[in-house]
Amino acid sequence: MAFRSGRHSLQIPGPTNLPDRVLRAMDQPLIDHRGPEFPAVTKAVVAGLKRAFKCSGPVAIYPSSGTGAWEAAILNTLSPGDKVLAFETGQFSTLWTKLAQRHGIEVDLIPGDWRHPADPAQCEAKLVADKGHAIKAVLVLQSETSTGVASDIAGIRRALDRARHPALLLVDTISSLAIQDFRHDEWGVDVTVGGSQKGLMLPPGLGFNAISKKALAAGKTAKLPRAYFDWQPMIDANDSGYYPYTPATLMFFGLKESLAMLDEEGLDNVFARHDRLAEATRRAVRAWGLEIQCADPKAYTPSLTAVRVPDGFDADEVRKTILDRFDIALGAGLGKVLGKVFRIGHLAYINETLLLGTLAGVELGLAAAGVPVKRGGVDAAMDYLGGNTPAAAAPAVAAARR
Ligand SMILES: *Cc1c(COP(=O)(O)O)cnc(C)c1O
Repeated sequence: MAFRSGRHSLQIPGPTNLPDRVLRAMDQPLIDHRGPEFPAVTKAVVAGLKRAFKCSGPVAIYPSSGTGAWEAAILNTLSPGDKVLAFETGQFSTLWTKLAQRHGIEVDLIPGDWRHPADPAQCEAKLVADKGHAIKAVLVLQSETSTGVASDIAGIRRALDRARHPALLLVDTISSLAIQDFRHDEWGVDVTVGGSQKGLMLPPGLGFNAISKKALAAGKTAKLPRAYFDWQPMIDANDSGYYPYTPATLMFFGLKESLAMLDEEGLDNVFARHDRLAEATRRAVRAWGLEIQCADPKAYTPSLTAVRVPDGFDADEVRKTILDRFDIALGAGLGKVLGKVFRIGHLAYINETLLLGTLAGVELGLAAAGVPVKRGGVDAAMDYLGGNTPAAAAPAVAAARR
């Protein structure tokens, strides 16, 4: 490949760009994970994660990708033959339910068109109809990364409550944690699944479970075999600041730093920044004359925008042109939307100018790929961002800080 000057633009919806601060924090000699210094690291990262998840119970940290944390959530709460309710919002919801099926879980998957969020009314109807309480858990993604559709977790909680159904609520926040508001305790979530490589600005390699009291209690009688992913030995070891097996030491150093960065910016400001950049991106897409995959404006996820290419064009060819000409990596269409969409990640360590550079590359690349688009997307984004300072975008936050 020809030499490329300047930085590669990694604008996929995860892994995301690493802040230099995080890289430097990880560029350290290893320490003894059973020695006297490690408990302070454990305590800092667990406390920081609790602020991010807005939870008060334990948070398990696995040396795994997000998929491992999905599996842990299932193994620690369910028994073979248990039934769960899930929503086909896109590729990741489908993969999570397939994983559950491989463990002998029966999945009632509410079909979807990959353009709309999980519907609390459908959830309520299913639960009301389940008089015998055969459904043991509801699985939902706060942000479906394959389509850019966000589901209303508080709304799903209310559906469970209205149905007076005891099912556990298991939520995937892998592409929404530290990007949009999430409240594990307040929304009565039983297991929240997270991962390191998206909003948390880290390399791939850590998976998280935030765990409620109800989930812990369910774990006492859950019968799926579990060993490595068992919560209890980790919770026991964490009490004294240690892990039952070798934790990913350098990732912990990086996590401590990224959590400190989130504290410095303030979570509400982090959310407002993502909202602003996401809206600027959508304005660019509309100005180009292209369609956004998410068909419900209330359900846009702030982490990414999935853009539909016109019929007769292959989104992967467009992505290839943009990568070859402008060194920008965009997310591919996955599963049912393969070749139909490309995804612009606008999450984690990103600001206005990084986004505008990306949008400019996409605008030029679309034209270079022969897609009939109008110019002016970048201008539309600039118009919005220029008139939309942080204080204007989040008056409540700005007021609270005065
Ligand atoms: C990225 C992602 C996953 C998969 O995580 P891996 O780290 O690739 O295992 C699962 N769910 C969602 C919503 C994601 O965005």
